[in-house]
Amino acid sequence: MPRYEYRCRECDTQFELARPMAESGAPADCPNGHGDTVKLLSTVAVGGASAASAPGAAAAPAGGGGGGCCGGGCCG
Ligand SMILES: [Zn+2]
Repeated sequence: MPRYEYRCRECDTQFELARPMAESGAPADCPNGHGDTVKLLSTVAVGGASAASAPGAAAAPAGGGGGGCCGGGCCG
């Protein structure tokens, strides 16, 4: 079930609700009991917040390179 983020305009609390898509536009009650809330852009579910957690498989150790001929004078 997708999660949606809301913000209360009375007490400025942000909160999340998991609810069906069909109800994403329905009014959501603030945890503090207020009813004047706005729906924020959903940040979840579609590749939004996954920046800082990639396992280290990036850089291969630098190495290799040319074998000895060039530089020894036999290439030119
Ligand atoms: Zn509130």
